[in-house]
Amino acid sequence: MTARPSILHADLDAFYASVEQLLDPALRGRPVAVGGGVVLACSYEAKRRGVSGAMPAWRARERCPELVFVRGSFGEYRRLGDRVMEILGTYTPAVQRISIDEAFLDVGGSERLHGPPEHIALQIRRRVREEVGLPISVGAARTKHLAKIASQVAKPDGLVVVDPAREREFLDPLPVRLVWGVGPVTGADLEARGIRTIGELARASPERLAGLLGAERGTRLRALAANEDPRPVRPGGRAGSVGAQSAFRRSAPTPDLLAEVLGHLADRVAGRLRAKGLAGRTVTVRVRFADLRSVTRSITLADPVAATLTLREVAEGLVAEALADHPRERTLTLLAISVSALTAETEVQLELAVDAADDPRRPGSRTAAARLAADRSVDRVRERFGRGAIGFATVALGERAGVPDDFRELAERDGG
Ligand SMILES: [Mg+2]
Repeated sequence: MTARPSILHADLDAFYASVEQLLDPALRGRPVAVGGGVVLACSYEAKRRGVSGAMPAWRARERCPELVFVRGSFGEYRRLGDRVMEILGTYTPAVQRISIDEAFLDVGGSERLHGPPEHIALQIRRRVREEVGLPISVGAARTKHLAKIASQVAKPDGLVVVDPAREREFLDPLPVRLVWGVGPVTGADLEARGIRTIGELARASPERLAGLLGAERGTRLRALAANEDPRPVRPGGRAGSVGAQSAFRRSAPTPDLLAEVLGHLADRVAGRLRAKGLAGRTVTVRVRFADLRSVTRSITLADPVAATLTLREVAEGLVAEALADHPRERTLTLLAISVSALTAETEVQLELAVDAADDPRRPGSRTAAARLAADRSVDRVRERFGRGAIGFATVALGERAGVPDDFRELAERDGG
């Protein structure tokens, strides 16, 4: 156990709204919301007046009549987010970006060049303010989870260093919603059952939490609350991929077969991405023909995907391309889907498009939001009752005509 708070979590404050205030000085000091019909993000001036993310515009205006709506400058968000990451990279190569505007740094090896972690954190805050023009909060601690909580406590525009000798004292009284992975819904659930603080979550019995959250999630969140987090900072973001494949008896690529098999694979792959809090931009399909020759097709999307139905549609398009390129191959024996170029899903949730077009591939579009919401309710049921509780295809596959009887899943690879 290192005794120093050498992991930093750096997180820009109200990022989208802060960028808007940077780009248009007339917006500074005023309550600003990015969005259209819904508030996608808002400035601290708006938050203080009761406006919050995901709030319908009419309610936000009711609470804050002087609220200024802007549509969002997504290209600028990306450019400025990248510039901040460059600044972080001058202190250590160990930078793990987890979304457009936040990253972990391990500055354990940077002391000789740049001083102790607290000092580096101060320099980062000053330089991001001076060189980019944006407020950034930093948490410094011994683990990633503590550092992430510290940066949230530091907001807005602050620095919190967690003394390794007083970690329990720091965590115990904090609201349970600050635990990484406890969203607003779970947070409200826990609070309603008397688990309001991180200390109370850490002390809750495993059996009780398994009943409330499912065994896997209960164990994970309780461990974080108990201050167990061995994860290292992984530079370069998330490598690897999440994939699944199905081999079957020689079959003609009928629309029924493709819909069923690709639906089943998309369900598995997207479900596992969501369980890990990930989404990915590159979708690859592999098609194996009867002569055991395989072809792959892939596409890199503008936005990361984690919704089952969207992944299935993308995969169907790729398989159609592969088949069109091999018109003489009329028999398949295997299909596989994998997703790579992974990012943390928090980015997807923030990366809300304000396009008028309702494109399901754009996070934040109505269809995309509806699909992800549907997926999440399936995930929740499965978390409590097991995968078999709701089957996309686990049940249907055996019953539908056109799907081989000996359909089976051979292997799942996971590089992530
Ligand atoms: Mg942020």
